[in-house]
Amino acid sequence: MSASAILKEPKQGEPITMKGDRLQVPSKPIIPFIEGDGIGVDLWPASRRVLDAAVEKCYGKKKAIAWYEVFAGEKAQSRYGADQALPSETLDALKKYRVSIKGPLTTPVGKGIRSLNVTIRQKLDLYACVRPVRWFEGVPSPVKHPEKLNVTIYRENTEDVYAGIEWAAGSHEAEQLAAYLKDKLNAALPEGSAIGIKPMSSKNSKRLVRAAIRHALLRKLPSVTLVHKGNIMKYTEGAFKDWGYEVAKDEFAKQTVTEASGEAPNGRLVIKDRIADSMFQQALLRPEEYSVLATPNLNGDYLSDACAAQVGGLGMAPGANIGDGIGVFEATHGTAPKYAGQDVSNPGSLILSGAMMLEYLGWTEAADAVIKAMSSTIKAKTVTYDLERQMTGAQKLKCSEFASALIRNL
Ligand code: NAP
Repeated sequence: MSASAILKEPKQGEPITMKGDRLQVPSKPIIPFIEGDGIGVDLWPASRRVLDAAVEKCYGKKKAIAWYEVFAGEKAQSRYGADQALPSETLDALKKYRVSIKGPLTTPVGKGIRSLNVTIRQKLDLYACVRPVRWFEGVPSPVKHPEKLNVTIYRENTEDVYAGIEWAAGSHEAEQLAAYLKDKLNAALPEGSAIGIKPMSSKNSKRLVRAAIRHALLRKLPSVTLVHKGNIMKYTEGAFKDWGYEVAKDEFAKQTVTEASGEAPNGRLVIKDRIADSMFQQALLRPEEYSVLATPNLNGDYLSDACAAQVGGLGMAPGANIGDGIGVFEATHGTAPKYAGQDVSNPGSLILSGAMMLEYLGWTEAADAVIKAMSSTIKAKTVTYDLERQMTGAQKLKCSEFASALIRNL
């Protein structure tokens, strides 16, 4: 079947464009969505209702989203063929329309098959994985003061050990590389080693830190912390830290000051750094001292889940993958297949990712409205099963009922 026969662009709405380095968002932007596998079928309709209601509540008929369904995962396979879990026209649409949102996707199991999420990030060069972590009053948390943690994590998405450059122990490639390292660079590895490469570049580290600094400046936040393991890996992790300071100095000299300088910030953004293991302690012991964390890939992977768990919200933490003038907003959990189609799962992660998306469009009133509705709905103890089972005296709502409660609380 021809590609154009499958995707149906909306008849109304206009694409988001770029002018210089700024998004130009029309009053009715076309926004592609991927429903997602498993519980995506429950979460997406619930999320869409809440996002549409928030936009209508804030802007009446002046603004609206022209949703455009594109396919990935099982829905794509059933339409395009078993080997087409991520059709090229879906990627083209995500690229063309610049801002999109997706539910969770099953990672196909099998040798040589890459995660669809990783493929989307790489193909669209979505170099920053952005995870805001905040506590919503009433959500059960393992710590005494979850409200003190309110950070946004900018995690590098394209390199470090996630670049996927590795060879199995005993493979011809690993043996060859080991021989080269031993003969030419005097670096002998234990016999039969598997080998992975950890590339970290100045260009990609700098653009990540630049995005984190811009985020903090735009929101008048107090600090950006470069998280690294540079005491041990000096030329990769240590360089990440150095490049981060360089960006601040070369591009944001007037708006920033380093913690190490000892100068009073006087309204400027403080740039500081922490060694990764210490950052895990700090997140628990002095969370209020951090607002934006910029991290290489692997540190950020661990840290974002640890922080989300600290506020009790691993199942409802939002996320986005952002590049230059392009963003894919997504639920951070998986497809929870055993609950698919039962209308019981928590749509919080996808809805809060939608709020991030509204903010990215510059529709901050609608984004704030969603977050406030989320706060008051959880505070009222009207929640889905996953939170209800941890709270005393809560009322258990279905996924769709939770969305309706949010809409009432907008
Ligand atoms: P998962 O789908 O996140 O589910 C694990 C458990 O987390 C669920 O059984 C459920 O716990 C809880 N959970 C997740 N989402 C929830 C929600 N919205 N509301 C309430 N509870 C929720 O992890 P998985 O079982 O390891 O992965 C399943 C598939 O998802 C795999 O194919 C994996 O590759 C994929 N995946 C996709 C993404 C993505 O697309 N971004 C991310 C991670 C995993 P209880 O059973 O305790 O209620």
